[in-house]
Amino acid sequence: MDNSKRYFMNKNEILENTEQAFEEEQFLVYFQPQYNYTSKKIIGAEALVRWFHPLYGMQSPGDFIPVYESSGYITRLDLYVFEKICAFLRKCIDKNVRIVPISFNVSRYDVYGGNFIEDMEAIRKRYDIPVTYFRIEITESSLVGGNEYMIRIVESLHSLGYVVEMDDFGSGYSSLNVLKDVEVDIIKLDMIFMRGKIGGRGGIIINSIIKMANWLGTPVIAEGVETIDQAEYLQSIGCNYIQGYLFSKPVPENEYIDMLKSSKICEMKSGMKLIDKLDAEKFWNYESIETLVFNSLVGGAAVISYEKGKIETLRVNQNYLKELGMNMEQQEVVLYQKNLGFDKQNAKIYIDTIKRAIKSKENETCRTWRPIHSPCCGDDNLYIESTMRVIGHNESQTLLYVLIRNITDDYRSFQQLAESEKKFRTASEQANIYCWEYNIGTKEMRPCSRCMRDLGLPPLIENYPEPVIESGLFPADYADMYRDWHKQLAEGADHLEAIIPLTKDRIPFHVRYTAEFDEVGHPYKAYGSATLVVDGEDKNK
Ligand code: C2E
Ligand code: CA
Ligand code: CA
Repeated sequence: MDNSKRYFMNKNEILENTEQAFEEEQFLVYFQPQYNYTSKKIIGAEALVRWFHPLYGMQSPGDFIPVYESSGYITRLDLYVFEKICAFLRKCIDKNVRIVPISFNVSRYDVYGGNFIEDMEAIRKRYDIPVTYFRIEITESSLVGGNEYMIRIVESLHSLGYVVEMDDFGSGYSSLNVLKDVEVDIIKLDMIFMRGKIGGRGGIIINSIIKMANWLGTPVIAEGVETIDQAEYLQSIGCNYIQGYLFSKPVPENEYIDMLKSSKICEMKSGMKLIDKLDAEKFWNYESIETLVFNSLVGGAAVISYEKGKIETLRVNQNYLKELGMNMEQQEVVLYQKNLGFDKQNAKIYIDTIKRAIKSKENETCRTWRPIHSPCCGDDNLYIESTMRVIGHNESQTLLYVLIRNITDDYRSFQQLAESEKKFRTASEQANIYCWEYNIGTKEMRPCSRCMRDLGLPPLIENYPEPVIESGLFPADYADMYRDWHKQLAEGADHLEAIIPLTKDRIPFHVRYTAEFDEVGHPYKAYGSATLVVDGEDKNK
């Protein structure tokens, strides 16, 4: 085209020139092929309208389509384009050119009222083109907001046999919501994500969309792919269908026919189907009970996928991040960590648990150490209890629901307790005394191993000292005194001692208590001990 003649018409000029444009057939339909990136075969093409004005040159649809949408010309234009596509397909069929489906853009204004679908069908039948050679592109914006009407449109297109594509998917942030209402057959990923550098936030969004689409069994065509890097990246995350300048700009009919003739063509395949699809699908449905539970009622929860030793986190709820002590920004870190950042040993524990869950179809639990890096707080190592259950799978991948609990603090205080108990036990064995720990707040008593062995006490006695009074270890005539000691301990006594005849044999023991206080001076623990008085020792022999 001669660019020197090109002039961009304003809104009024567009409208003033439109009638003549239709009469003189200044609108041409261009085709942009879509490829399977791996096989480099053509899987379809999108029809894009071009306006060649005899004086002003080529006009961009980005300029005149919005004007037509607000003036009502759009439906006339779209039917015109549809007829040109039909004429093109008829020509190909008649000439024995092998064809692939053509994606056709339908404006949301077309389907509001009127007889658009009937008019389309009349044209298609006139040219006698099978419905399978078309894919109808609708945009997300025509669907969002729970638009019942659009849902019905999609249903009626489906009932006529049309494949429906969701155009510009992901350009609005409500995208994921739309999928729950509208059963589209193909997702066209918006080129907005292809701008700028690969990865980053855009990469994360693309990655989630493609993964989710794959789980739903919906193929994704990425639009606006300009570089090999972009295509390789898309392929690496599971999107193999590509439309963009990397392969071809939109081209006129004859050039497209040459491409069809020289290139191999192939059919599209849907994404992976879940054998157990229903359950998994509910987790993507933002209104399902499962999602409600996922987000609010349960603690930390995640949906993960597992394939041949590889674990990927697909979704986490807010409580999950809370459990890890992270904020929402850090979600990205959590989601895109390879194998959850496990070292070899912990990865094995976790993967073995996944395998058990796959086998048992029940909840399986494990405890693993997991390194967490946070830009503000530095590195930490967390001890996490994960309970997992399979919710879906296909031949190679498994989808699991995982509940997590951060038990790092519990574990550390348990370690400390075990440490102090160990010391306490060794000391009592060596000193030849009976001793115990009494928790003043909870009235729990933990005896030493000698007490357990010689006196047959359990490792933990609740509501101390009642059970030992009842058992006769502390004789009835000393019961009230002994009870009173525990009251005194609660009131802050730091030391108590007396000779008490213990057991049914009334062997005299030197019984002592020493209390421990917290930083603010409240008593919380007392150490009890009992040593045989010397003549008692003689008796015992
Ligand atoms: P769209 O449906 O999102 O079409 C894709 C646009 O991306 C096209 O712009 C195409 O030329 C452009 N494109 C394709 N590959 C690349 C690439 O690698 N890099 C870049 N930067 N751009 C690429 P176009 O043809 O200007 O169309 C603009 C919009 O106008 C379309 O966006 C579509 O919404 C609308 N449109 C075009 N033809 C029709 C039509 O017949 N009917 C209706 N209702 N709308 C149409
Ligand atoms: Ca489109
Ligand atoms: Ca698009």
